[in-house]
Amino acid sequence: MLTKVIAQANVDHAEKWFEKAEKIVIVSHVSPDGDAIGSSLGLYHFLQTQEKTVNVIVPNQFPDFLKWMPGAKDVIIYDRYKDFADRLIREADVICCLDFNELKRIDTMEEAVRNASARKMLVDHHLNPGNFAGITISHPDISSTSELVFRLICRLGNFDDITREGAECIYTGMMTDTGGFTYNSNNREIYYIISELLSKGIDKDQIYRNTFNTHTEGRLRLMGYVLYEKMEIYRDFNSALIWLTKEDQRKFQYRKGDTEGFVNMPLSMQGIRFSCFLREDTEKDMIKVSLRSVGDFPCNKVASDFFGGGGHLNASGGEVYGTMDEAISLFKQALIKYEDQLLGKK
Ligand code: 5GP
Ligand code: MN
Repeated sequence: MLTKVIAQANVDHAEKWFEKAEKIVIVSHVSPDGDAIGSSLGLYHFLQTQEKTVNVIVPNQFPDFLKWMPGAKDVIIYDRYKDFADRLIREADVICCLDFNELKRIDTMEEAVRNASARKMLVDHHLNPGNFAGITISHPDISSTSELVFRLICRLGNFDDITREGAECIYTGMMTDTGGFTYNSNNREIYYIISELLSKGIDKDQIYRNTFNTHTEGRLRLMGYVLYEKMEIYRDFNSALIWLTKEDQRKFQYRKGDTEGFVNMPLSMQGIRFSCFLREDTEKDMIKVSLRSVGDFPCNKVASDFFGGGGHLNASGGEVYGTMDEAISLFKQALIKYEDQLLGKK
């Protein structure tokens, strides 16, 4: 049995909105990850069984390793089909905002969604939800938005309407946001949910292979290069840094998603508690920052203090509009500011 995480009032409210709505749009954050696409498509497959007109729209392209997901080819990429997407957003009765806490996380779609007359529903697990939605289902203690989507569908009384396709998407989001159930994954209800998803006929082993074991040769060689030449260890701070320029990425035929998970690699070393990955973006003139930590070191605080971002205690990110040297310098300033916590003194 599952505990009732989502407040009954929110469930009742959502039920009414879904009942009345004909056109529903689901949106998720920029640079969508497995949980963004998994939760969106999980809800998409469910709402299709309720005979709604449903569309999933995300700001920009998502990585190839998520393209196998059922329904992935129906996801509308806003920066490619802006006019079409704008019309869907304008005409929607309900907009479901999944896996982000504030409208700025949907980047170029922010204005369109903000100005839409649709009712807005937020389903998310990041801290500090913004105040833009009529229904706010926000649970930072839950490890993925996909899990929240599962819980919401069940609480609506529609477990039977979860199809195998929908279950595959939900499972993928739960799996990717916990690194294959290796972090944020001690809540035993997660495994109850997995058992329920298995009852829908999902092949979890195949899902793992589809997602994590279909990389390109370029990625593997880039990984080798990064570990050998671009990783700096700051032993005095229990920390590590990896940084990658545009030129590095060109050399290895970089494709979106190729560096996924690189930020976690230094954490497999003894004594490393904090890892930072800096990558010059190939599309926008900025440096994308990914931060990871183990234990109670709050890498989301580093993200908000130094990189204009945020996220979770152990996984966060931000952006630097400047040079790589400036970004590295910010990282070093963060080590100094958080030295005591990095060394476990506080
Ligand atoms: P990743 O390192 O996988 O790109 O991001 C990890 C987590 O950090 C995301 O799930 C998200 O919560 C947060 N995050 C990443 N980039 C940003 C950003 O630019 N701004 C904010 N507020 N959060 C971010
Ligand atoms: Mn998530």
